Amino acid sequence: MADKRGSWAKPERNLIWKDYIDNKMWIRFNEEYLSNLDWDWKQKAPCPRCKKIMLKAQYEGFQSGQPGSWNIDHWDNNSKNNNLMNLFPMHTTCNNKKSNG
Ligand SMILES: [Zn+2]
Repeated sequence: MADKRGSWAKPERNLIWKDYIDNKMWIRFNEEYLSNLDWDWKQKAPCPRCKKIMLKAQYEGFQSGQPGSWNIDHWDNNSKNNNLMNLFPMHTTCNNKKSNG
C-alpha cells in the first residue's frame, strides 16, 4: 500500500476513490444531497469533512495547494490501518486540520 513517504500508487488511489463514491460517500451524505449535486463521480466528489468539491485529477503531489486537492485520510487516525474501509479521499487542508485536532 502506501510507501515510506506516505504517498499512494495510482491503482490504490483509484481504488480508494472508487470505494468512496460507490459506498462510503452514500453512507456519509444523504442520497438526495448527492443526487442534487449532479457531479460526475469519476471526476468530482464532496470532501467527507467539509462537503466541498474534490477533483480526482488534483491528487496531492500533482496539484498540491489547489482548492480541489486531496490525499488519503486514515479515518481512525491510525496510519498503519490500511484497511480499505479506513481510507478516505479528503482535502489535503482538511486532513491536516484533522491531524492537528
Ligand atoms: Zn474538505
